[in-house]
Amino acid sequence: MTDRLTPAQRHKVMSRIRSRNTKPEKLVRQWLWRHGYRYRLNVKSVPGKPDIVMRRYRTAIFVNGCFWHGHHVETQGIASLHAISNSSCCKIPQTNRDFWVNKIKRNQERDQRNYQVLHDNGWQVIVVWECQLVPKMIEQTMLRVELMLNEYFLALHQPKPVPYDFQNVPVSMAAEEFPPLI
Ligand SMILES: [Zn+2]
Repeated sequence: MTDRLTPAQRHKVMSRIRSRNTKPEKLVRQWLWRHGYRYRLNVKSVPGKPDIVMRRYRTAIFVNGCFWHGHHVETQGIASLHAISNSSCCKIPQTNRDFWVNKIKRNQERDQRNYQVLHDNGWQVIVVWECQLVPKMIEQTMLRVELMLNEYFLALHQPKPVPYDFQNVPVSMAAEEFPPLI
């Protein structure tokens, strides 16, 4: 699949879309900060370079643009690229459609790999979608994020059950303490 735009034109188009997507991240950060949560940004040592890293909660938050990450777009297990359809918040351009579908599919696959690595290392992954941050939804979305943070924190700090140590239990003492019968 060849791109009809020159690399320079493509770069320009993509960077324009990308820079628009920085705003949702900011909304999430601001909400968390206002509510007393502290975090680190774009930590390179954490797989997938999450937008927000909260070590205390062992949680990585990804704020995903609906277009780039194909929100509600089913791409896995579908034989033909042409059978992949738009969703309410991810409208794939008709022009050069295969290029975009491929791009979104690869992004989704990379996302899943990153989430899996984090999960395997005991991290909670929270994905916040751009469309969940519109003014009428942001509060509800962020309250759900807060709940997930706190529930995971609780689970991490749950006291571990102490294993019963059989070796220290004086099972035979009672009998042995009796004086010999003869
Ligand atoms: Zn969306």
